[in-house]
Amino acid sequence: MRILTGGMNHESNTLNPIITGPEDFVVYYGDEITGKGLLPGYASTGIINTLREAGAEIVPAVLARAVPNGVVSAPFYYSLKQEFIHRTREALARGPLDGVCLALHGSMKVEGLGCAEGDLLGALRELLPGVPVTCALDMHATVTAEMLRGADAFVGYKTAPHIDCPETGAHAARMLLAALKTGKKLATAYRRVPMLIAGEKSESEAEPMASLIKACRRLEERPGILAASFLLGFPWADDEHNGVSALVSGFADGPGTEASGIEKAAGELAAAFWERRGDFRFRSEFYGPREALAVAYRAVLEAGERPVFVSDSGDNPTAGAAGDATDMLERVLETLDTVEKLPTPLLYSGFYDAPATAACRKAGTGAELDLTVGGNWDTLNGRKIPLRVRVENIVRNFGPFHADLVLVSHRNLRITLTSRHIGFGEAELLPALGVNPADYCLVVVKLGYLEPCFRSVAARAIMATSRGCSNEVLETIPYKKVPRPLFPLDPDMEWVV
Ligand SMILES: [Zn+2]
Repeated sequence: MRILTGGMNHESNTLNPIITGPEDFVVYYGDEITGKGLLPGYASTGIINTLREAGAEIVPAVLARAVPNGVVSAPFYYSLKQEFIHRTREALARGPLDGVCLALHGSMKVEGLGCAEGDLLGALRELLPGVPVTCALDMHATVTAEMLRGADAFVGYKTAPHIDCPETGAHAARMLLAALKTGKKLATAYRRVPMLIAGEKSESEAEPMASLIKACRRLEERPGILAASFLLGFPWADDEHNGVSALVSGFADGPGTEASGIEKAAGELAAAFWERRGDFRFRSEFYGPREALAVAYRAVLEAGERPVFVSDSGDNPTAGAAGDATDMLERVLETLDTVEKLPTPLLYSGFYDAPATAACRKAGTGAELDLTVGGNWDTLNGRKIPLRVRVENIVRNFGPFHADLVLVSHRNLRITLTSRHIGFGEAELLPALGVNPADYCLVVVKLGYLEPCFRSVAARAIMATSRGCSNEVLETIPYKKVPRPLFPLDPDMEWVV
């Protein structure tokens, strides 16, 4: 068994003006994928380990990953695709390929093209007609007709925050192995549910997702069904395909395992999802930015709670926002007199601001300087805020994207700055700067739901529905392309599967 593998992982936020380019991606080629690219949290790692255990020969092509951001540069995507095709042709020259198993996001958009995954799968299918293809997808995949034509079976993550990526990769690999072992054909049934869901309403531990995911797991025990998934789409892409998908993959033939079994199951899932449409709610308490801060200040100063976390959810780079909107920072600066009364500095993590980071680096630790923070990219929801700061700490080449990190102070405020669009949800980022968030009474972070590293220390989590490219109040986003009617934009719409 020779199996082609690889992947592409990017969630493209079409409201963010940044074009995601080569400098934003980490790309592994060929054997690098099974070497330094075999990282613990990846779906591709689950695929590779499962195929290896089954004794398959792995043919690694390309694995490209970036933090969610604006749409992907067309020349860069086409270079990735070319590399995929080139390596597949090379592998074919050495002998036949029996299957393809890929780790894809499912909401990667390319400037001028649209769905990257559909385009790549189509190209591979042309090269490998009749060869079974399975894919692991992110829960926030936007399923398109091209994707459905380009692969035979799909399985999506079942957790948000996504902590089952390797397991999902392993699941995709097992489906391919099952098809190769039995010689049966794989097939996928698809139902689109006309809904959009704000990211922070879809946590899998909370209702209704907890019950809906349980329904997927129950279906996966039915004979002939190999995977049942809800792909929620990506609400911050104004895209004509956006919506929720119910996907059920299984065997297309054989006794008791007719394609009709998966069709029926997909219909059941879609109906179950629509039934719960009114039950999606924010799990944490949420307020507009001013009120969120007022509640947080009271929690610290009057109730002695600490650390209190406030999510600047409208500008969450891990949801593809620019990471430099200043709506929330301006609200903090308006209340600096209250910030002065806090028992520790207010920690704000942070801002993607390459020029400000470079200026601090040049000035050096301990220097005082005037700079502007934010407003380089998201000029709709931000502006360059002038601040006099002291440089507290500088870290070079942090993480796989080689970001520079800086910690600055302004009165009783500490702000982290990054030279690259890497997000602020990583457990290692603040410790790298010598910062332990548990030492602070109030932490504002550009995130939505708190990642486990923050949730484990937060005495209280408050979500601010701030302005930015990951605005959680979908009803206020001026969509132009999403297909209407769509719930909750059209709250009274009717729909049957
Ligand atoms: Zn996701």
